[in-house]
Formats: sequence, C-alpha cells, structure tokens
Amino acid sequence: MRTPMIAGNWKMYKTAREAAEVLRALRALVEGATNVDVCVCPPYTALLAAVEAAKGSRIQVGAQDCHWEKEGAFTGEVSVPMLADLGVGCVIVGHSERRQHFGETDATVDKKIGAVLAHGLSCIGCLGETLQEREAGQTLAVLERQVKGGFARHLSAPRLVIAYEPVWAIGTGKTATPTQAEEAHAFLRQLVGQLAGPAVAGSIRILYGGSVKPDNIAALMAQPNLDGALVGGASLDPNSFAKIVKFRG
Ligand code: PEP
Repeated sequence: MRTPMIAGNWKMYKTAREAAEVLRALRALVEGATNVDVCVCPPYTALLAAVEAAKGSRIQVGAQDCHWEKEGAFTGEVSVPMLADLGVGCVIVGHSERRQHFGETDATVDKKIGAVLAHGLSCIGCLGETLQEREAGQTLAVLERQVKGGFARHLSAPRLVIAYEPVWAIGTGKTATPTQAEEAHAFLRQLVGQLAGPAVAGSIRILYGGSVKPDNIAALMAQPNLDGALVGGASLDPNSFAKIVKFRG
C-alpha cells in the first residue's frame, strides 16, 4: 500500500520567523492526520527555523533544490550534506520553475536526484509538460523523455517520489481534471514498470501538482494512480494546507 504524501512548496515566500509561526500552527492542525506523510519546503533561509518548529511533530521539512556536489567552488549553491546537517529530510528536484528560469535540465535533475538519494534523504522529482506541448499532443512523449533523462537510474530507490506537475497548471488556478491527471499518472506508472519492473511500479509514489486546493484535492485523490500532492500557493496558509492534508475529511 502506498502511503499518501502531501508536500508544500513555499517557493520564495516567508522569512524564518514567519516559517516558524506557520509550522507551529500547522503541527497542531495535522497532528491527527495519520497515514499521510506531510512535508513542507520553505526557502533555504527558513529551513533551520522550520526544522526547530517542526521537531517532535509528524511534519518533515524539505528543501526546494540542491547542488549535486558535496562541496566546491559553486557560489550561491547549497549541497545535500549541508541540508542534512540542518535536519532537512527531503529535497524537491527539477521543479518547472527551476527548469524554466534557472536552466535545470534532465541531466542536472539526474545528478541532483542521485545526490539526494546517496545522502539518505527523500527526493521529490518533478516533471510535466508545458501548455504548448499539451496542445501539440506531446504530453506523454515529454513525460517519457523526462523520466528516461532524469529519473531512470534512480527508480528503484524507495525514497524517490515523482511529482507530475503540468506547467500550465502551476500557479495559474487551472487544475488538471482528475481524468487528465490520472491519464498522466497511469502512463508514468506503466513506464516505471517497463524501466524498473512491476514491484517498483506498484510501490513508487506519484504526486500531482498544479493549483491543488482544499476544494479539489478529494476528487484528485480518488484517482487510483494519484498518491498525494505537491502544493504551492495553498500551502502558505496553515489552515488551507491542513485541509488538503486531511483530504479524507
Ligand atoms: C508548485 O509550486 O509545485 C505548485 C504546484 O504550485 P501551485 O499549487 O501554486 O500551482
């Protein structure tokens, strides 16, 4: 059985003090939500405060990116061991905003996923098609290229989670319909099966991301191949994020 996971991506929002406040409110709100893994990913500068505020709760703190090297002359970058040292348990890799604005490629996604897993952290690896690609009927081909280029070597790692995030649905208020999401998730699971075997396909978690809100999470989670959500905007408010975590009602 795949335990659902709800992860929040705070992007470039919240200072350390604000992050601690949200975490303190959130931990009380989600304490009773058993059988759901909960993760919150603040900006680097708020990670330590978030880890402290989440201590002893069921909330894991994650980072939004990392470098693949352990250390070196990479100005402005942060390595996985540095994140682990803070108590961070999870790292998002390959988010479409990193791909769009910061030159992330399938090749760097591959290296980053490898580094996160090698240091014992969980990794949420993101992929998804643009609107132009969807309208051109290329969605499944794009997903296949992204899996083969960035994920294929790591699929058997139990701490790898895939997040399907159609770029056109991120921060736009346009959610994929449950049917559209399920089609992509089913395709990804079948592709994982081809590349890594049926046991991995059956156990790997595939999250959906793209304008998930308290009022659409239940319909999305009713789809058989959806194992949770990566939530941007709606994760910034503890009450709305807690409602998503408690999607079972
Ligand atoms: C995201 O940042 O991964 C995301 C899905 O954002 P939003 O929920 O705001 O669309």
